[in-house]
Order: sequence, then C-alpha cells, then structure tokens
Amino acid sequence: MSTRIPHYMIVGGGITGLSAAFYLKKRLESEGAPFRISVVEKSPSFGGKIHTLEKEGFVIEKGPDSFLARKRPIIDLAYDLGLEHELTGTNPKAKKTFIVRQGKLHPMPPGLVLGIPTQMTPFMKTGLISPLGKLRAALDLVLPKREVTNDESLGHFLERRLGKEVLERIVEPLLAGIYAGDTFKLSLKSTFPQFRTMEQKHRSLILGMMASRKNVAEETAHLPSAVRNSVFVTFKKGLQTLVSGLVAALDSTDLRTGVGVASVRQSGQQAEVVFEDGRSEMVDGVILTSPVHQAAKMLAHFPAASELNKIDYISVANVIMAFDRKDIPFELDASGFLVPRSEGSTITACTLTSAKWLHTAPDGKVLLRCYIGRSGEQEWPALSDAQLISKARHDLRSLLGLTAEPLFTEVTRLMHSMPQYPVGHLEQIARFREELEAAMPQVLVTGAGFHGVGLPDCIRQGKEAAWQLADRVSAKEPAVTAGSV
Ligand SMILES: Cc1cc2nc3c(=O)[nH]c(=O)nc-3n(C[C@H](O)[C@H](O)[C@H](O)COP(=O)(O)OP(=O)(O)OC[C@H]3O[C@@H](n4cnc5c(N)ncnc54)[C@H](O)[C@@H]3O)c2cc1C
Repeated sequence: MSTRIPHYMIVGGGITGLSAAFYLKKRLESEGAPFRISVVEKSPSFGGKIHTLEKEGFVIEKGPDSFLARKRPIIDLAYDLGLEHELTGTNPKAKKTFIVRQGKLHPMPPGLVLGIPTQMTPFMKTGLISPLGKLRAALDLVLPKREVTNDESLGHFLERRLGKEVLERIVEPLLAGIYAGDTFKLSLKSTFPQFRTMEQKHRSLILGMMASRKNVAEETAHLPSAVRNSVFVTFKKGLQTLVSGLVAALDSTDLRTGVGVASVRQSGQQAEVVFEDGRSEMVDGVILTSPVHQAAKMLAHFPAASELNKIDYISVANVIMAFDRKDIPFELDASGFLVPRSEGSTITACTLTSAKWLHTAPDGKVLLRCYIGRSGEQEWPALSDAQLISKARHDLRSLLGLTAEPLFTEVTRLMHSMPQYPVGHLEQIARFREELEAAMPQVLVTGAGFHGVGLPDCIRQGKEAAWQLADRVSAKEPAVTAGSV
C-alpha cells in the first residue's frame, strides 16, 4: 500500500491555464509533497488567443498585442519567469491617438482616461464633440450620484453621467478594442467597477477619474524602470515570450497538446475526465480554463452549467499589412485611430503598429493592423480574406490616403473570441460557482469568460483557481491505494 500522489489537471493551455499550472506547481513545490500536474490543450499548440508570428523581420501579433502596465499579475509573472528584461514600452514619440469624425481624423484630446476627461480645457476645445455635447458632459460635475445597488449596463451608466455624444463618439470606440460589444448590454460591475466606485465616492465620474490620476506613481512603482513611463507594455519578441517562458517553467509537467476534453464529472472524492477520443482519467482536481461554452459542454450533465451559455462571445478579424516606409503618405507619430460606429466604415480601429511599438518592423518598413467586427457587425469577420483585405484597404485609402500595395498581408479571424459580460454577470457567476462547488468540489472553472478579459486578469484568475484547488485537495483525507501513479 502507498499514498497516492495527488494528480491535478488543467484543461486549456491559454494564458489562464498555463498560469494556473505554473502557480499550482510553485505552491505545491513550496509545500514539499509529491504531486503530478497535467495540462491538456485541444489545439496543436499552447497560448490560446496569444499568437506571435515572426515574418521577414516583423514581429506580428495575431491576437492580443500588449497589456496595461499598471496591472500587477502579469508583471509579477514576468519577474517570476525571469523575463522582466524582455519587457518593452510604447514609442514616446507616437503617443497621439485619433478618432474619426465625419470622415476626418481628430486628435483625441489630452487627458482622456478610458475616454473620461481629466483635463477640461483640451476637452472643451476638441472638434469631436458639439458645444451642447460638451456642456452635457460637464453636467457630470454637478449631477448627484445615483444610489444604485444593482448592476446596470455600462452604456446606461456612461450616458447618464456624460451624455450620448461622449459615449458614442469617444468612449464606445475606445472600449470597442477591449469588448467589441454593445455597451448597453455589458455589465458595469463586471467591466469597469471602478467607474461605479468613483461615482459613489466622488459623486462625479470626472472628479473621480481626476483623483485616481494622482496615484499613477504608486501604480507604476512595481515596473522595471525601462517601461515605467509606458501605459501599455509588451515583450520585445512578442507575447509568445510569455507563453514560451511558462511552457519552459513547466518542464517537469505533463504537457499535452492535441488533446480535447469531452466531459468532466465528480466521481467519489475524485473527478473523471473523459477525452474526446473516448479515453478517461481519474484525477484529484481539475481547473477548466476553456472559453465558457466549451466548459458548459464539458459539464453538460450539470444543470447549472447552462448558465454559462448566457455569456455571448463576439467574433473579430484583423487585417495586418506591411509596407515600405517610402509608400506611407502620412507622419508616423501616432499610435493609431479609432472609428465610431456612426462613421459606417468596416474597420473599427487601426493601429500604426510599428510607430507605437518600435520592435515590430525592420528599418524602413511599416506595419499596420486594422480591426474588423463588433456587436451588430458580426457579418464582417466571416468574409473571405480577399474581401476583408479589400474593405480594410478601402477604409485606409479614404481615411489616410494610403493607396500603396502592401508588401504582404496577414488576416486573422478570432471567431467567438471576446466575452460579453451581461448585466448581472457577477451574481450569475457567483451562483454558478456555489452550485458547482456543492456538486463537484474537485472541479473549478475560470478564465476570460469570468472575471476580466485582459491578460493580467486571466493570470490572476489562473493563480486564484490554482490556490483554491490546492486548498481543496489538501483539505481532503489523503487517498490511499495500491500502487502509485
Ligand atoms: C483579438 C483580440 C485581441 C486582444 N487583445 C488583448 C490585448 O491586447 N491585451 C490584453 O490584455 N488582452 C487582450 N485580449 C484578451 C485576451 O487575449 C484573452 O482574454 C486571453 O488571452 C484569454 O485567455 P484564456 O486562457 O482565458 O483563454 P484562451 O486563450 O481562449 O485559452 C483557452 C484554451 O482552451 C482550449 N480549449 C478549448 N476547449 C477545449 C477542450 N475541450 N479541451 C482542451 N482544451 C480546450 C483552447 O484551445 C484554448 O487554447 C484580446 C482578445 C482578442 C480576441
């Protein structure tokens, strides 16, 4: 007779799953007892939405491209992996961002934070908002706070604080890059809980945002000095660096790609994982980190799992184009531009990638990335590559006068990739988790569909789930069986 070594399984090898495995390993190693961890990923490679392509000297991100520097979990992870020297910030000479209004590019007024004005003089001068729209936004300074305890939609909140124009012409296009969603369907509490706190604490969103700016130095103190002045940060060779770093740190772990999980159920004190090829394995704890609809399928026998299907996902596509610098008829002193819905363009934004991130193109070359697809425009990402390229080039011609033939193009489609947290999401998720714990204590479900879509939020969620699972498994009586693993 011997004590069985606890076996943990992480399903999904995106950033959430790899972070969960990494922090679980770290914790269990620190406790000194033997353990076994497996990571099973359905696709042929790890990384999930993260996909960096190196081509002809360009560093091309086909999924996420960077992260908010002030969010600690990803910076902590970079230190944990010894990758902090690989971090890089944005080009200080390309800080400007433009927003399209009636077919023309307008500079975004300085002092906007997530679209909320924190400097009133430049905001009052912008051509993006009408005089009435500016007055309506300034009303935020005097309007009383609303005593709300329930969740409300992000759009509803922003409209009642700042008015329709600021919402439609500035905030919505800015936030489209994160959720691509309909702000009137997105939960305020799950997307920007800080807005609600600001209203409750300062009465006004503008005053609250101004007050939060005073903490910037504190918020960036954890950053390596080389990137301390950058709002967004990435890795010099792309985000794949993080994925490779995690995979390397998990060297003694059982890492499997090309292995899909079909179902997971509680079986006594263990969980039974059934794979898509019909094989099955008994493990002591499982963390599901796939997009929520896949998790709902794996838990189809569990009635509360149908709750997860209430979370919609938006599809997006990107058209990435490389050019010769000599063919670009405009200054490369900006990070890009955003296109509000009302403009009727196909592209929702364009990043002047090689201007914003100097490491992404060789000398004399330029990289641009056009974004396509948001709620209400879901037919676009399904178009053929040729149609997407043609539509993106049409928009760049009319907005920037760019007519040159690209050196090459890369089209990415991320179908059903951006979770849309509905109003009441937090409460729904809390109920679901309570029921799951009661029925299947050995199974945890987490990832971008739950508490934050940004890479740092996914890392935090992976780490939290790892610690929770380790607590639950160690709280059980040690299982005793003949033989060992
Ligand atoms: C176009 C786009 C741009 C973005 N840009 C940014 C950005 O710049 N900065 C930022 O911070 N965030 C960005 N995000 C958000 C961020 O990239 C994602 O939220 C994050 O990568 C999700 O990680 P995850 O591990 O939770 O999920 P995923 O990356 O989706 O990983 C889940 C994994 O589970 C696997 N899986 C699914 N089903 C099964 C199964 N049955 N069995 C086994 N494995 C399975 C999948 O193959 C996948 O690899 C962006 C997202 C998109 C779509």
